[in-house]
Amino acid sequence: MTERKNITIMGAGLVGSLLSLYLAKRGHKVDIYERRPDMRKILLDGGRSINLALSDRGFKALRGIGIEEAVRKVAIPMHGRMMHDEQGNLTFQPYGKEGQSIYSVSRAGLNAALMDLSEPNPDITYHFNRQLLDLDLRQSKATLRNHETGELEELHTEMLFGADGAFSMVRNAMQKTERYNYSQSYLEYGYKELTIPPAEDGGWALEKNALHIWPRGNYMMIALPNIDGSFTCTLFFPYEGELSFESIKTDDDLLNFFLQTFPDAIPLMPDLAEDYFSNPIGSLVTVKCFPWSFEDKALLIGDACHAVVPFYGQGMNAGFEDITVLDQMLDTFDGDWESLFKKFERRRKPDADAIADLAVMNFIEMRDKVADPRFLLRKKIEGRINQQYPDKWIPLYSMVTFTDLPYSYALETGREQDKIMKKVMKHIKAVEDYDKPEVQKLLEKQLVKKEKLK
Ligand code: FAD
Repeated sequence: MTERKNITIMGAGLVGSLLSLYLAKRGHKVDIYERRPDMRKILLDGGRSINLALSDRGFKALRGIGIEEAVRKVAIPMHGRMMHDEQGNLTFQPYGKEGQSIYSVSRAGLNAALMDLSEPNPDITYHFNRQLLDLDLRQSKATLRNHETGELEELHTEMLFGADGAFSMVRNAMQKTERYNYSQSYLEYGYKELTIPPAEDGGWALEKNALHIWPRGNYMMIALPNIDGSFTCTLFFPYEGELSFESIKTDDDLLNFFLQTFPDAIPLMPDLAEDYFSNPIGSLVTVKCFPWSFEDKALLIGDACHAVVPFYGQGMNAGFEDITVLDQMLDTFDGDWESLFKKFERRRKPDADAIADLAVMNFIEMRDKVADPRFLLRKKIEGRINQQYPDKWIPLYSMVTFTDLPYSYALETGREQDKIMKKVMKHIKAVEDYDKPEVQKLLEKQLVKKEKLK
């Protein structure tokens, strides 16, 4: 243990709340400030269940504070994608090998569980209804609005972690420093959350252990199960254009669109029109910036330094992995915080950029390619290659989701594998063709080449 620090965390979302536990475990005193009220006492998001896919990187970080198994118990494993076509026909595609699943968890439930764990810890104090308005990084002076009293409060921050999400005010202060790199890019799509309530018997109206997708070319709807029997659906849809949020104005427009596009979902969504017209449209942003730190005074973490679009289900997982990596670095820490922050940002930046790019790429895969039988065949062939050469070939999705290989390595390897698959697939019309001698020979040759390139 090095010198005990007074640490301020801005933002008690998923990443800030988990980080507080890790830092307190290392003996530091942590004060965590959150602009919203305590979510355990007040219904947020209109009381809607909103869920997230948690996978191996996220679980690894939860394991570090001993709650992996507890979270698994309240999470629903999703073994693969269930595709719904326009006629309501279903096709299932497993995510990985037998036993590999991603898990649907309640966002609020997980956040509240992390807060509950911190609460009895005398070294962690939550301050709700405190919004960071301004930050003077050099003077380590933060100005917050106390939403209970309406007053402004000033705070001296000995060391500040900015876990205040995609629109971070801590990052905003860094942006005002010299030669700061920052970019944000929005997709021309937004998203809207809708609900499939539990079936009449209280069970799930669709297959429970799957992530459901209605892929429709340039847009899509997905649904993830909740433990109360409901599903949270998300419609990813263009803002403008012939078929878009802008073009659907009335109940009739909505019903006609759903009848044509998602007919099997309509009987399962009795509150469709109410949900659709009352729920907000969320935007989809990628944020990249550098550096992530300011001297030894402040460090960004999670969405604050790398917000990604949600199509790989990795935003929170990547934020949790930031914590795992930082904690590993603290194992060999020499007391120099500034160089630790620098080392951390240099190590994580290529991986954050990679998952940002992978997430945008996966949007095209989910909304379009998963409806293509050739694409599904290719996935099956990749499964066979992985079976035959487990040490040499892990499909891209599995590298990202079921390993903790760096995201940048996964992206690069995925690109090499893609080139090989294009060659292999020229010889394949059905899964059985995989065993043809010419396919086996081609594959062997390509794998030798790939190994040499390493
Ligand atoms: P946030 O969750 O945004 O938390 C930031 C916190 O800071 C909030 O509590 C906020 O109120 C507080 N705050 C903000 N500004 C201030 C301020 N000025 N002062 C004080 N407090 C402040 N990720 C996955 O891994 N799997 C998924 O399946 C997945 N699905 C997603 C689906 C959608 C539609 C979206 C939009 C995202 C999804 N993500 C998913 C991404 C995931 O939600 C984020 O990566 C994750 O929430 C980031 O956590 P965070 O704590 O860094 O930021």
